[in-house]
Amino acid sequence: MAYVQVSRNVTIGILALQGAFAEHQTALQGLSCQKKIAVVLVRSAEDLPTCDALIIPGGESTTIALLAKLAGLLEPLRTFLQKKPVWGTCAGAILLAQAVENTKKGGQELLGGISVTVARNGWGSQVESFEAPLSIDGLRDPTTPFMGVFIRAPVVLALHRSTENPPIEVIARLPINLVPKSQKLMVYDVDDSGPYDSQSIVALRQGRHMLTTFHPELTKDSRFHEYFVRTCVLPTLL
Ligand code: GLN
Repeated sequence: MAYVQVSRNVTIGILALQGAFAEHQTALQGLSCQKKIAVVLVRSAEDLPTCDALIIPGGESTTIALLAKLAGLLEPLRTFLQKKPVWGTCAGAILLAQAVENTKKGGQELLGGISVTVARNGWGSQVESFEAPLSIDGLRDPTTPFMGVFIRAPVVLALHRSTENPPIEVIARLPINLVPKSQKLMVYDVDDSGPYDSQSIVALRQGRHMLTTFHPELTKDSRFHEYFVRTCVLPTLL
């Protein structure tokens, strides 16, 4: 079981409008801590002020954005992420991006927060979903691979590095040899450093925010949840 040392109670919100929010809740509740991590399922703006951080789950980003708009949550979420850490998984990662390609007709609302461009469904459709073992240095027990579950996952097309934004730190890449042969890799030649360079990124951090294009919440491995709390959330509470 992953272990996090916390000096005060931590409250983590999970945006609970659609998608795999219950799985994130289970993962957070499974973390072993000195003090409890309280979980708030966020469904309205009134749920946000008690949260020290937020997780936006995988699901369907257009639907989550629409429901957030209907709930009057878009602006409160944008304000929240200017001050507090947010982690987006898959659809959540799309919502945290600065720009998105391959949207549904009419486009979609984004929250922004991480200066990347992503492509929705960049690895293909639902039937082309896949799993791949990832080796990730910053996790506890780094020699044990973390199973990345990619379900209609977004692909990172470009990193927009600038002096105005905190640096982007790549946490995990998907080695090209692990991309199943059935995948039609969308090659958008937008990144100067080479077409696969940004597209291989499947987890990154920028300042206090993090995105993973896969679903750590759909595994029994809570090391990513522990990593988020340890590296993104706890430093903001000091
Ligand atoms: N393709 C979905 C979207 O656009 C994301 C899929 C997922 O979260 N598993 O939101």
